[in-house]
Amino acid sequence: SSEPGTGVRARSRLTVVSGPSGVGKSTVVAELRRMDPSIFFSVSLTTRAQRPGEVDGSHYHFVDRARFDEMVAAQAFLEWAEYAGNRYGTPRRPVLEAIDSGRPAILEIELQGARQVRAAMPEAQLVMLVPPSWETLVGRLTGRGTEDPAVVAHRLAVAEKELDAQGEFDALVVNTDVKQAAGELLTLITGTAV
Ligand code: 5GP
Repeated sequence: SSEPGTGVRARSRLTVVSGPSGVGKSTVVAELRRMDPSIFFSVSLTTRAQRPGEVDGSHYHFVDRARFDEMVAAQAFLEWAEYAGNRYGTPRRPVLEAIDSGRPAILEIELQGARQVRAAMPEAQLVMLVPPSWETLVGRLTGRGTEDPAVVAHRLAVAEKELDAQGEFDALVVNTDVKQAAGELLTLITGTAV
């Protein structure tokens, strides 16, 4: 796109951050947000129930299933997926507008969605956030303490499958330390050292 007086500004790159449940994606992304507020963070639509502390329009746009499916039919999603019985999708237009205006953009989504973005936009950068070890992830998923063992076992099985997809990603970031992981992610997004 061109801007009056400044000539043509290059499109920016889209970065997808994915990784298994319990790896600390949202914590790392929240830290990244603090580090660089100029990055565009996509707000997904979801059909899941709003959790205490979540703000509609900020963490997610919370919608019912009918509204979600209308947007699917209208091809308004860049990608969408069903995860743990709920639907999640990235609205296409805000992401494309950010990229066209030269603003780096980031999506925090699960694996099926990451694959759809790869297919639709081969130039997108796919980053997987991984735990320092399998034991760490098991500890984080069981340590929440609130879930029944069958739910935890299911999450671990899903996490194992997600980790198996590492080879499909352009880069891995190990989440040993939140600030360090966010810094590495920022370097990948902006292409500059921090
Ligand atoms: P949660 O319900 O814990 O907020 O999110 C569950 C999973 O859905 C997480 O792995 C999260 O990254 C993923 N997710 C959130 N938004 C989207 C989206 O728009 N598309 C896809 N494919 N996954 C999403």
